[in-house]
Amino acid sequence: MPGSPPYDVTVIGAGLIGLSTAMHLLERHPRLKVAVVEKDPHPASQQSGHNSGVIHSGIYYRPGSFKARFSVEGRAAMTRFCVDNEVPVWTCGKLIVATREDELPRLDMLLERGTANGVEGLEMVGPERAREIEPHAAAIRALWAPGTGIVDFRRVAAVYLDRVRAMGGEVRFGTRLTTVVERGGETILETTGGTLRTRNAVNCAGLHSDVVARMMGVAPDLRIIPFRGEYYTLKKEREHLVRGLIYPVPDPAFPFLGVHFTRTMKGYVEAGPNAVLATKREGYRKRDFSPAEVIGILGYAGFWRMARRQWRAGVRELNRSFRKGVFVRSLERLIPEVTANDLAKGGAGVRAQAVARDGALVDDFRIERRPGAVHVLNAPSPGATCSLVIGRHIVDLAERSFNLA
Ligand SMILES: Cc1cc2nc3c(=O)[nH]c(=O)nc-3n(C[C@H](O)[C@H](O)[C@H](O)COP(=O)(O)OP(=O)(O)OC[C@H]3O[C@@H](n4cnc5c(N)ncnc54)[C@H](O)[C@@H]3O)c2cc1C
Repeated sequence: MPGSPPYDVTVIGAGLIGLSTAMHLLERHPRLKVAVVEKDPHPASQQSGHNSGVIHSGIYYRPGSFKARFSVEGRAAMTRFCVDNEVPVWTCGKLIVATREDELPRLDMLLERGTANGVEGLEMVGPERAREIEPHAAAIRALWAPGTGIVDFRRVAAVYLDRVRAMGGEVRFGTRLTTVVERGGETILETTGGTLRTRNAVNCAGLHSDVVARMMGVAPDLRIIPFRGEYYTLKKEREHLVRGLIYPVPDPAFPFLGVHFTRTMKGYVEAGPNAVLATKREGYRKRDFSPAEVIGILGYAGFWRMARRQWRAGVRELNRSFRKGVFVRSLERLIPEVTANDLAKGGAGVRAQAVARDGALVDDFRIERRPGAVHVLNAPSPGATCSLVIGRHIVDLAERSFNLA
């Protein structure tokens, strides 16, 4: 390797965003030598393969934000991509249900936001029309978003991977980046699979993106705090309770959408996810614990500021995580017929949520450009929906700050 020419671009992380970036780089610049390094043995092993599988339409996000801009375009691009590549996708629509009077102003605000963001087909519906759409949901009023869809994002990642390889990209699994050194205008990446030389790098390391940024000499003004999202699945004989997607009106103080019902393309109906602080970045189980990572979290002033602002929500989420009855009560508000017996324990995902030094949960996507590098520092939901558009955006940034000639 030391004697061979260096890579033009090396992407860290084979999640949806890393693979989309490599794919778009090679589509626009077919002669580039591109590598992707991934510590795990297969693609989409972290957030990209452990999510709700919803192709969001762009309702929730602040007009003008990256999330708002990218999700409207991203939904259309993702749906078309799936159809073109024979990845099963279903535009089943989403019903956001208000079950209390005090939620109605927030539902109105969602309609305003969605309309401002250019989401098509939004419709405010009364209880009768809501029952036609989702016969078992209890709504005093609801927002119907017919363009929202579902997909198994692992299958999307598999297509990205095939495309990258077909265009000559080299994807190395089981290869963890451990150290980065700048030498003679090149970046030397030390990995568990040997040394790689590269002219430019793109950090798409998800739950580890702040660690990788620091390895590359960038001190981001935020830190990734992992939030586990736990799911239940509806038992087969009760799946008829959900036709598509049934969501609550979200709490505006919290960046997560609240536990919801999701029909999946994996063949079952999920309920969740909650949002509990995880004690390990890849802490998929309650018992997963990393002393070093916990010390890191506790040593971050932004964590304590966040804790002061959000402790009530934190306690509520912990309670819902440990007590199935509390989880079920959140779901009963959406579908009164649901009981604890209808739900079996499901999987979990861990969100990479960036927290700023002032304790704010960073809501929007954060992608930063440095000489010879691009860092994806915050790519929470709807990052999977937007992965095609984010990949394209990263290549636009790379064209400005990398020498790709
Ligand atoms: C519970 C949950 C539900 C969600 N629901 C939705 C949804 O319904 N719709 C939606 O659009 N979005 C959803 N999201 C968000 C979406 O999944 C993410 O935005 C998206 O997957 C981010 O992709 P990524 O490539 O940035 O990160 P990841 O998929 O986490 O990929 C990062 C990769 O980097 C690798 N890596 C890290 N460190 C190193 C290193 N040192 N060396 C080599 N490799 C490394 C990791 O192993 C990993 O494979 C959800 C997320 C979660 C967690």
